[in-house]
Parts: sequence; structure tokens; C-alpha cells
Amino acid sequence: MTRPRHSKKDIEAALAHAEAQGWRVELASGHAWGRLYCPHNDSECRCGEFGIVSVWSTPKNPANHARQLRRVVDNCTGGTSSEEDET
Ligand SMILES: [Zn+2]
Repeated sequence: MTRPRHSKKDIEAALAHAEAQGWRVELASGHAWGRLYCPHNDSECRCGEFGIVSVWSTPKNPANHARQLRRVVDNCTGGTSSEEDET
């Protein structure tokens, strides 16, 4: 699978991390560089908005944006449910 690399290395690393978890990366036009799609797109999953997370092309703080993307991926509730405290 080939896709253009993100110009910000922090974000590129976060995208690679997401892909390793099965997330799909799709390019977008406009302000967003692309979108991340959660592999577990169901009602249980609350990743971003409806399992879709926007990836900005030139965020003010790339490291911060990258961290935010990683957090969404790591907090994905689909599939594995290791943290069920409020069900
Ligand atoms: Zn998810």
C-alpha cells in the first residue's frame, strides 16, 4: 500500500502507528491533509467523530497534533475491550 508521506515527521509517525493498528489513511483536499478511519467503525467505538479523525497538513503544533492522533488510536474501544468500567 502506498500513500504520500506526511511532511511533518511527528505526524507521519503517528499515521504509521495508526496503520499498524489497522486504521485506514485517506487523503483529503482542503485544510485537512487526510483522514484516519477507525477499523472498528461501530456504535461502540468513539474514535474521533464517527470513527473518523482529521489529519491536518500544517497544524500549529505538529507534535501536539501527532500526540492527539496517537491518543485516539490508542483509546479505540473497538475490538479489544480491556477497559470496561462504565458499561
Ligand atoms: Zn475505534
